Amino acid sequence: FVHQLADETLPVAELLVSPLRQEPHPSLPLPLALFGTQRPNSAGLDLTVPAMRDSLLAAYASTQVPSVPVFDAKLVSGPLEISTTSYKTWSKMPVTERAATLRQSADALQTQLPQFCALLVKEAFKTWNDAISEVREAIDFLRYYAAQAEAIMQPQTLPGKEGNNVLGITGESNELFLTGRGAWVCISPWNFPLAIFTGQIAAALVTGNTVLAKPAEQTPGVALAMVKLMHAAGVPEGALQLLHGPGETVGAALVAAPGVAGVVFTGSTQVAKIINRALAAKDGPIVPLIAETGGINAMLVDSTALPEQVCDAVMQSAFRSAGQRCSALRLLCLHEEIADHVIEMICGAARELVAGDPADLATDLGPVIDAEAFEGIQHQLKRLDVEAKRLPAQSEQAQAATNKVANLIAPQAYEVANISDLKQEIFGPVLHIVRWTGDPLKVIEQINALGYGLTIGIQTRIDSRAQALAHAAHIGNVYINRNQIGAVVGVQPFGGEGLSGTGPKAGGPHYLYRFCAEQTITINT
Ligand code: GLU
Repeated sequence: FVHQLADETLPVAELLVSPLRQEPHPSLPLPLALFGTQRPNSAGLDLTVPAMRDSLLAAYASTQVPSVPVFDAKLVSGPLEISTTSYKTWSKMPVTERAATLRQSADALQTQLPQFCALLVKEAFKTWNDAISEVREAIDFLRYYAAQAEAIMQPQTLPGKEGNNVLGITGESNELFLTGRGAWVCISPWNFPLAIFTGQIAAALVTGNTVLAKPAEQTPGVALAMVKLMHAAGVPEGALQLLHGPGETVGAALVAAPGVAGVVFTGSTQVAKIINRALAAKDGPIVPLIAETGGINAMLVDSTALPEQVCDAVMQSAFRSAGQRCSALRLLCLHEEIADHVIEMICGAARELVAGDPADLATDLGPVIDAEAFEGIQHQLKRLDVEAKRLPAQSEQAQAATNKVANLIAPQAYEVANISDLKQEIFGPVLHIVRWTGDPLKVIEQINALGYGLTIGIQTRIDSRAQALAHAAHIGNVYINRNQIGAVVGVQPFGGEGLSGTGPKAGGPHYLYRFCAEQTITINT
């Protein structure tokens, strides 16, 4: 995955990004994570730069993962009261001042990028490449939501142009205001312990809410470091509090607490439903839930697709981050005519992946997050060994590395008979492959019938077919002739439908609205 771009290829990369450079949206920052992780960044935030490698390794040697005390779930009313009190002042601050604290945080994070990368490698077992893209994404969320909030939170006179204070068609003056709602509970996952954690809290804070953040149990250290950084950047301690502990106790207590104004959650569909039920059962106001959950994500490949492009997209989508992304490819649907050829290429490419210790710069595929995840995946692999045809996707190197590195799973590929054989998401480096013939729209129907709707890849050289399939898919993020991971903040709003979540999409123009209350003031003048 390490794209060793030689100097002479840099102008090509520049050409790719130049249209965006010339015409950036007037009010929005240019994302650092353009084109996922593959774009060498002018700021030198890239593994190909020797100075960057040196600073990452130095940070790795000197950075300790902070220990975070487990919060006593019985005491949840204390932080909630602090949050509610803090809301009174934080929500009254001009949006530009709240946005300034996000920008300040983004700048600090950019300065401390090596230290945060080191934390991600140590605590979440990210590869260096994944760590760099995650820090960039967190920075992008901070800058994007700062700009978005400033754009949408200005009072609007209706109807008529913004700021046009004439009487509306009712003969009255009508103004629409967006404000915060109160104390939000932000529950984030271990697979993006910095980017999703930061995205959730930044969105809640900048719109005037206060935050009780419950990071994943496995990754509280990264979360604590980020909270400290944001406090230092001007976010009041009462407006942003960290409550670490198990979802079953701390998460559940927060969701059930009276007075919570909203919940934003990224994690499994099952837990999203538990939260939804708990919120519905509460007395008092109806509490909004923003849930981003998993997917059984497919890639549909027809017989006109470019095999090399398919192979590269599959490697990225199925095995990057050890398959621990909601967006990751789980089910590759290959047209019968090219299936044998593409399967051979994919297995060959998978055998080239270097599996091992994530701290090693050469590692492409690191371990899964913990022993529980490892055991769960092994259990699924045993089932697949019986029900499906195992393909030779792992090298001797990868196999040997699994004996040395805890919780490491070598790349896995299985051929299955039917799309409907996939019943659940396996959150690891496990690819299912199915063959198809006939009408590709029928394949999309079967993919839709799985009920999830997060990402899909479409590989075809027939443009009209790509369009027809994309629009037939009930899926939030459609990627044509490329990989299907690494949505770029502000450019590729991310989130699904159906079993994959409620929306609105993170990093998109509608996300912040859900964190806001709307007030219309009508004056009979
Ligand atoms: N936004 C990430 C991507 O596009 C995935 C986030 C997740 O796994 O929850 O790959």
